[in-house]
Amino acid sequence: MKTHQYEAVVVGAGGAGLMAALYASKGGANVAVISKLYPTRSHTGTAQGGIGAALGNLEEDKPLWHAFDTVKGGDYLADQNAAKVLAEEAIDAVIELELMGLPFDRTDEGRISQRRFGGHTSNFGEKPVRRACHAADRTGHMILQTLYQQCIKQEVKFFDEFHVVDVIVNNGVCVGVVAVELGTGEFHVFHSKATLFATGGWGRVWSVTSNAHSLTGDGAAVALRRGVPMQDMEFFQFHPTGIYRMGILITEGVRGEGGVLINGRGERFMEKYAPNIKDLASRDVISRSIYLEIREGRGVKGKDYVYLDITPETVNRYLAEAGETRRIDRETVEKKLPDILDFCRTYLGVDPVKEPMPIQPTAHYAMGGIPTNVDAEVVLDDNWTVMPGIYAAGEVACVSCHGANRLGTNSLVDLVVFGRRGGMAMAKYVKGADFVSLPANPAREIEAEFERIRTSKGKTRPGELRSAMQKTMMEGVGVFREASGMQTTLNTLQELKRRYQTDLHIDDTGRQFNTDVIEAWELGCLLDLAESTAVSALNRTESRGAHSREDYKARDDENWMVHTLISRKPGLAPDGGAGDYELNTKKKVDQSLAETDDRFKPKVRSY
Ligand SMILES: Cc1cc2nc3c(=O)[nH]c(=O)nc-3n(C[C@H](O)[C@H](O)[C@H](O)COP(=O)(O)OP(=O)(O)OC[C@H]3O[C@@H](n4cnc5c(N)ncnc54)[C@H](O)[C@@H]3O)c2cc1C
Repeated sequence: MKTHQYEAVVVGAGGAGLMAALYASKGGANVAVISKLYPTRSHTGTAQGGIGAALGNLEEDKPLWHAFDTVKGGDYLADQNAAKVLAEEAIDAVIELELMGLPFDRTDEGRISQRRFGGHTSNFGEKPVRRACHAADRTGHMILQTLYQQCIKQEVKFFDEFHVVDVIVNNGVCVGVVAVELGTGEFHVFHSKATLFATGGWGRVWSVTSNAHSLTGDGAAVALRRGVPMQDMEFFQFHPTGIYRMGILITEGVRGEGGVLINGRGERFMEKYAPNIKDLASRDVISRSIYLEIREGRGVKGKDYVYLDITPETVNRYLAEAGETRRIDRETVEKKLPDILDFCRTYLGVDPVKEPMPIQPTAHYAMGGIPTNVDAEVVLDDNWTVMPGIYAAGEVACVSCHGANRLGTNSLVDLVVFGRRGGMAMAKYVKGADFVSLPANPAREIEAEFERIRTSKGKTRPGELRSAMQKTMMEGVGVFREASGMQTTLNTLQELKRRYQTDLHIDDTGRQFNTDVIEAWELGCLLDLAESTAVSALNRTESRGAHSREDYKARDDENWMVHTLISRKPGLAPDGGAGDYELNTKKKVDQSLAETDDRFKPKVRSY
């Protein structure tokens, strides 16, 4: 076992991790980034649509309008102080990315080009506004490359293909992490003053997902197992437009450019559900509408999908009907959405400029995660008690600027705004703090758990358990939920956890590049997160944002303007049953904007 010492350790090299590392380093800290993937393979690189900022380059826009849309889109569960920071600092963050060299698309005057996106409006919901800054449909790719280059220039140290598998806590202070080096199977201890988790989401809990195979929620699970509660796990966003059966994302940018959703009868059904902004309503609303159409027999060919149509013929007809002068043509679509066209032509054999794309909702984004304050410090309870030495930013964190449902383009903003704040907070903290000593043998427990997995001689391969988990989560804790379905899912998960403990079968018993063992360990993380999601969802007896219950259809502001905090019994593997979880629903939603501005008070959402 090797031991390393860095003042600041960042786990994860997506947008949030790189931004945090850059700022911690610029602030004078000596920084290491640990990443299970090569940094430029992080999921941030797949973000297509754009990054939201009220630059007002094409029409009037204001940060306060952006904050309003964020709070409304989040069905009023967003902490308003966090939404305000997000919207205000977005402007500066985007300009900073531009100055770092990010090649945004341009307007004719040479300013950053912006397009429409779901739920983005001007003047508190009046009409759609162009707020999404983009580099074709490869915005995340450009952000990732730009930030990685900046980190290299800043001489940040990278440990690539190192899997963090445990967090080390000494007397309530986070003092580092344990990682496995994929190439050798060796364990490394990273001793730090400050550690920031930026490990991304866990869409792999569900079977139809837009998320990469690597999105197994390791950072969240590792923290949960060492006593950090998870916040708002019941809120997981299903993006309306995944490629049918494959889940691969078709960006909302398609609808931003004018694309429309069409059911099996050829009707533009969003006119019915969101008469004002139709296909640009927030994602939770559209995903539910698609399911309702399918359930009532109006899926295409009676199946469980609908069409997304960006053919100039259809789009121009609707634009004309709406009295708009704008028209689209094949060339614009090719230029603005090149990757999307490529995906559809390659994976579906469908050419979107000639025919509509078959789509269905796909598990996409974790609104919940490790609770933090606006400086990315991890907080443990409803009194906002900060745990020293540990930070989180990006999708794994829950600050909570997205509330019950995230608006498109707000995740990329979240990464750069709160990644930057986390980096600055760490730099400040490490200046005034000493290294707290490591406990004796900090890697012993997790090494033992890996040894157990590696030498398992049962009959069940991890893939079998994974598929069963994904299926039951899709059925019981998907777009629509009700008590008995969620309970069935919970029972199934507990049975899967039991088999994970007692009947695992691992083929590769070697140590070098043993992806078999790593994937089995990742499955354990997924099981823990699936269970916390189901337990939190069963507990929240209302419908809000992405959490839609058929047995409690109304939003209940009287009782549920609170975040869910869920903790579990300490332990390094998924073991205990549902009874081992503790729920705290006393953490009130911050409504600081509503105190002085009635427009921020909870209202029934209409689009
Ligand atoms: C297909 C797709 C399109 C999207 N489009 C948009 C968009 O247009 N606009 C928008 O705002 N949002 C979009 N999103 C959401 C957004 O891209 C993500 O929420 C965001 O990129 C997450 O960034 P992150 O930095 O938190 O983590 P990620 O980019 O997911 O990176 C996670 C990092 O953690 C590391 N890691 C994970 N586990 C471990 C471990 N155990 N040990 C060490 N390292 C670990 C990985 O190596 C990786 O470097 C999209 C998401 C998807 C899936």
